Amino acid sequence: MAAKNYRVKVAKIVNYGERSSLYKLSIDEEFGFSPGQFVMVSIKDKDGREMRRAYSIASSPNDKGFIELLVTRVEGGIASEFFKNAKVGDSFGILGPMGVFKIREPISDPVYFIATGCGIAPFISMIRSLLEKGLKSKIILLYGFRHEVDYLCKEYVDDILKEYQNFSVIPVMSQPKGKWKGYVGRVTSFIDVAIEPKEDTQAYLCGQKEMVEQVKDSLINRGMNKENVFLEKWS
Ligand SMILES: Cc1cc2nc3c(=O)[nH]c(=O)nc-3n(C[C@H](O)[C@H](O)[C@H](O)COP(=O)(O)OP(=O)(O)OC[C@H]3O[C@@H](n4cnc5c(N)ncnc54)[C@H](O)[C@@H]3O)c2cc1C
Repeated sequence: MAAKNYRVKVAKIVNYGERSSLYKLSIDEEFGFSPGQFVMVSIKDKDGREMRRAYSIASSPNDKGFIELLVTRVEGGIASEFFKNAKVGDSFGILGPMGVFKIREPISDPVYFIATGCGIAPFISMIRSLLEKGLKSKIILLYGFRHEVDYLCKEYVDDILKEYQNFSVIPVMSQPKGKWKGYVGRVTSFIDVAIEPKEDTQAYLCGQKEMVEQVKDSLINRGMNKENVFLEKWS
């Protein structure tokens, strides 16, 4: 579907600690997209100049009348400040859908999704849409985050876990506080234990550039075909 300008309205905001929020944005027009794609959000800087920032769509294409964006704010960021001040009822412009980070058929069994931070956003969309279509392959999500509060979209992950037996998640916390009983460390340290890379196994990676590069190299070195490793790298 060709990218177009749309007007969206903030319908709901779910906060994850101080830094991240999920924005449910209602759209009056029909908006089609492929899971994994992003939209450009139009923002004005303090001098009134129009800026654009990319945000992956976290909702499923089967959700009609709205999309969801997961935003982790950075200190002093223009879009970060915009989203920090956004309230239910505010409206703004988006351009989309855009991007070539999409599901490639046929899908392997198992298929891996590896993300850190808000890199989980396109995977919630991809995983939900695959399962809603009835995919029977084993889907394994390896997800890294800093503290318990940074386990973004946990409510979605828990709902998917309850509904689909072929989905599993390996959450990895890098800086646990309190009673976390799961894996501790960086996602990159768990690649060897969590993933059995066969030549035809597919892996989708999304998050910080360094993590994505490191995981890609590790998977390819251990036998995964580089044609089956799909990446989205942010800054
Ligand atoms: C295809 C694509 C999809 C994306 N999807 C998402 C998404 O779903 N959710 C999301 O939160 N972001 C996503 N991003 C990143 C997003 O587009 C912005 O870059 C990010 O929100 C920062 O924008 P800003 O205007 O607040 O910061 P800017 O005003 O651009 O930058 C302010 C300062 O912060 C630094 N900075 C920028 N990004 C980071 C960072 N990640 N960590 C630390 N410092 C940083 C800059 O170097 C600069 O010094 C995506 C980017 C791309 C290219």
